[in-house]
Amino acid sequence: MSDRTVYPAETLSATSLMEMEDRHSSGGTTRRPVIMAQGSGCTVRDLEGREYLDLSSAQGWANIGHCHPTVTRAIEEQARCLVAQTESSYNPQRARWYAELAAILQEGFGESDRGALSKIHVCSSGTEAIEAAIKAARFFTRRPEIVACKRAFHGRTMGALSATWNPQYRQPFEPLVPGFRHIPYNEPAAVSEAVNENTAAVLVEPVQGEGGVHPASEEFLLALQKACRDKGALLVVDEIQTGFGRTARWFGGSHFIEAGFAPDMVAMGKSIGGGLPMGALAWRGGLGSLDAGTHGSTFGGNPLACAASRATFRVFREEKLVERAEGLGRFLLERLRSFRAPLLREVRGIGLIAGIELRQKVTPVLKELMQRGIWALPAGPTVLRLLPPLVISEEELDRGLRIVEEVLGGNPGR
Ligand SMILES: *Cc1c(COP(=O)(O)O)cnc(C)c1O
Repeated sequence: MSDRTVYPAETLSATSLMEMEDRHSSGGTTRRPVIMAQGSGCTVRDLEGREYLDLSSAQGWANIGHCHPTVTRAIEEQARCLVAQTESSYNPQRARWYAELAAILQEGFGESDRGALSKIHVCSSGTEAIEAAIKAARFFTRRPEIVACKRAFHGRTMGALSATWNPQYRQPFEPLVPGFRHIPYNEPAAVSEAVNENTAAVLVEPVQGEGGVHPASEEFLLALQKACRDKGALLVVDEIQTGFGRTARWFGGSHFIEAGFAPDMVAMGKSIGGGLPMGALAWRGGLGSLDAGTHGSTFGGNPLACAASRATFRVFREEKLVERAEGLGRFLLERLRSFRAPLLREVRGIGLIAGIELRQKVTPVLKELMQRGIWALPAGPTVLRLLPPLVISEEELDRGLRIVEEVLGGNPGR
């Protein structure tokens, strides 16, 4: 990261900074004992100057890496102009953002008999995009029930949490929103009886991320779509983690459009904003619009986030990141599958999302990877999840994977 300015001298010690956070934080999130201070591309650096190769895309939001100069410049320019402004008036950044996102959705999902994914609700996080999906589906269908999948993760606000599966996340906060049920993932036979005349929507991740990195089968997605069509329910794909090139298509669901997959709604978040908080829900124009006054938020569609997101779209196009993810993804999965590592049980994934099922708990592996300068993620108790930034070089990825193989007990120098 020698091309970057050095982080401004910090006057407090690492210990006192950590103590301050621990004293006041809600406690709802587990922290690693690292003070992250700087990022550039695929590298993040802590206060002591230790560098980490970020194979997690900072938990999935940094598909274009950290502090991409194009995005940084757009943020700087927009911050001098207008930062926040609600949707109660028009804005040039937001206008262009809508049009550019609609074009990406057109490339990623095409049209169905309900039209293009041309109507967009903009918000500030993934969980809010899911809230919007639940509300919009109930609004358009006038039906109460939502079907989600076992192992699903859709967020942590009350509506999204009701669609999330993990009892650890749910139980302390019950009672949740009524009307939710969960069906087994990737079991087409279980679909038709779960969707009925009361179903407003079915929610599905094209690859379950948090749930252990499980890619959906084409049969399952098409069975969900058929059941929705037969019963008048809406099909919502949660592309918050799988969107924006992660699976080597614009969206995870884009892999199936030739087979006729055409979801009614698409929820987006994480990498859409280039690092700024942003979420979005798009739906088919044929479904219509929400009534004025029924939904919105103060910061949704603020010009700063729209400018950062537009710059992110530009990076995707200029650096051909979706196409890039295809070659890198093949390299990643082939390398992982070639590991002769005693701790490795199974490799799952598509594009640049990979899950390594271990023969033991993942926590000590993550700890050792961190000590060796690799930032990775869990996906449940025994799965190591890798989400490399799409801008990573083959050399960086190779260097990272050698360390992963060694930590899993293999010998990459063989
Ligand atoms: C991260 C994630 C969410 C929640 O997004 P937040 O921005 O953290 O609220 C929802 N669904 C999926 C699939 C995710 O990966």
